[in-house]
Amino acid sequence: MNGAATMRNILIRYLLVAIKLRCGSRNWKEQAIHEVPSPPASILRMPAIPAIDPATGLRFAETPVTDPEEVRRAVESARRAQPGWAARPFRERRECIAKFQRLLYQRRQEVAELITRENGKPVGEALLTDVAVTLDLARYYRARAASILRPRRIASGNVAFLGKRGRLYWEPMGVIAIISPWNYPLLLPFGEMLPALLAGNAVVLKPSEFTTRTAALGVDLLHQAGVPPAVCQLVVGTGEVGAALVASRPDKIFFTGSARTGRTVAIAAAERFIPITLELGGSDPFIVLADADLPRAASGALWARFTNGGQTCVAAKRVIVERAVYEEFVTALVTKAEQLRMGAGAAPGVELGPMIRESQLVELERQLAAAVAAGARVRIGGRRRPDLGPTFFEPTIVTDLALDSPLWREEVFGPILPVVPAADAEEAVRLANDSAYGLSGSVWTGNRRHGIALARRIEAGAVLVNDATCHVGISEVPHGGEKESGLGRTHGEFGLLETCRPRYVGSDWLDWIRKPWWFGYHEGSYPNRDAFLRLAFAPSILERLRAAPRALGMLFNRRPL
Ligand code: NAD
Repeated sequence: MNGAATMRNILIRYLLVAIKLRCGSRNWKEQAIHEVPSPPASILRMPAIPAIDPATGLRFAETPVTDPEEVRRAVESARRAQPGWAARPFRERRECIAKFQRLLYQRRQEVAELITRENGKPVGEALLTDVAVTLDLARYYRARAASILRPRRIASGNVAFLGKRGRLYWEPMGVIAIISPWNYPLLLPFGEMLPALLAGNAVVLKPSEFTTRTAALGVDLLHQAGVPPAVCQLVVGTGEVGAALVASRPDKIFFTGSARTGRTVAIAAAERFIPITLELGGSDPFIVLADADLPRAASGALWARFTNGGQTCVAAKRVIVERAVYEEFVTALVTKAEQLRMGAGAAPGVELGPMIRESQLVELERQLAAAVAAGARVRIGGRRRPDLGPTFFEPTIVTDLALDSPLWREEVFGPILPVVPAADAEEAVRLANDSAYGLSGSVWTGNRRHGIALARRIEAGAVLVNDATCHVGISEVPHGGEKESGLGRTHGEFGLLETCRPRYVGSDWLDWIRKPWWFGYHEGSYPNRDAFLRLAFAPSILERLRAAPRALGMLFNRRPL
């Protein structure tokens, strides 16, 4: 393409996006740009992505979009910078993470307020679920990474390899691409970036287009903490930029988002043989047995479903209650849901904020309408609240649900809680596992032992007894799912090791002995080798002893080719 054509394409693109932004901005009132440092100008291009406060629908900042060609250059420069970062002593990388932790702690209020502004969640939730869990992940990996990454000695129990001594080393992958969603805009990407950086990788983050300012602030804190800008980069944009990042051939991808996008990204990664960790959607079961503390279980269900405006991957999305206590439990839920306070996340005392965007509401309404058309009863809620803001939806509890309804079969990403009865614990487990998803779940019972036994039968990455959802806040616990909820794990030891390549390096202290498998075959080779097998595996000791002279003799007789 010649220069004039390139300029023309850039201009057309700029105009198209400007028109798009203009059309969507009829009721935007320009506001002061939030005080968040912008990503490095070198990797940014106009046009910009607006940061919109979901509580008001107003734009409050904008972040320039990264051109796909610049995405490729970001990956290349990260690749050049990574060996120097990996060559630094571990304690230097750990000191950077410690400094990041101190900076995040000092600026926690500012960060929590920004998250609320971009995402809509109550600011106290932003502080506890995003900031505090990220701080704890920094604490955990600083404390544990050195011992997890320590080379592991590998000895062989195979007689053929008695002389081998080796170690497993955890080498950094290289450049890790992190593609993340908007619902926990600090915790999710930084829970992957911190271990990746500690292990000696460079990272390129593509945050959700809805939460670019939080990502920019977090990346800036890492730079202030001493991580070189080329080692930790931010690229900004919609799915197009995410696709460009995958096409730039990073050495590993961590994708968090919907199963639908995850499938597209996984296919693109597979075509390039790029390993990928997938943290996808969920439809977590929440089982209440008749012997549970019902008021407590109802409080647990309420929080586990409606926290973050119902937009949590590990939310309690399908409540299954033993029939004997079903009505009593539904009544307790409805009574508590009536008391939930809705409003802008920045207002004190608010428990339920807005949903992120209009498109999410439209999807939620489609799922609810289909359930109602098939006979479901809305016990509370079920309506928008335009009086509060453009994307508020009431906390909603639904019963009498057909189990083939989208409200039960699909992931529901908003404040709707369906509750169904089960004859007994066995049927509850069957209903829990009858789902395309397998992220996490919970069992509520007065008998902890029984609860643990049932929990072990639920097809999911993590199951809690008498609690729900909060395991993601335990840094030591690996997070991830089964079935369409994803592949691999983040957090904990597994989360760190997924940022590394295991590399075995072995040597031989019997390296003067002939290797029995080398060339130099002759008419006696087969019986010799059979003797070797008998020495190693014969069931009787006597037979092994009989085979030993011939087997060991072959180590010395004849020179190999
Ligand atoms: P999404 O799939 O729409 O987007 C996720 C990210 O992928 C965004 O950054 C988006 O820009 C990017 N993207 C879109 N198309 C792409 C493409 N073709 N190539 C590369 N990147 C592309 O998800 P969302 O709406 O942002 O997040 C909500 C979903 O995420 C829910 O399904 C939720 O359950 C899931 N989630 C899962 C976890 C988990 O840990 N398992 C955590 C949070 C959210």
